[in-house]
Amino acid sequence: MNKYKEAWDTIFNEILAMPSDITSEEEQLLWKCMDTVEELIAKEDLKPVTAATAYSYKKAFSCPVCNKRWSVSNSKKYIYCPHCGQKLDWSVKYDR
Ligand SMILES: [Zn+2]
Repeated sequence: MNKYKEAWDTIFNEILAMPSDITSEEEQLLWKCMDTVEELIAKEDLKPVTAATAYSYKKAFSCPVCNKRWSVSNSKKYIYCPHCGQKLDWSVKYDR
């Protein structure tokens, strides 16, 4: 469980323990915030990078979530997608 999921669980339990006189607008706001945190949790789950068509002499990869491409001309690999923030899994070997 990543730290964002732990925070989500804590907030969720706090919401459940809140007094019942909370207005529906307040409750809707809290659940909307929870949805946003859920998006962050999903981005922390490793997803394997995808080999993309190489251009010029560089290796090209694309994000498994937003499908945007980027090139790598050295050994530096992004931990997170530079476009959408998805956490990337580089354990798959690409022989290019
Ligand atoms: Zn992305």
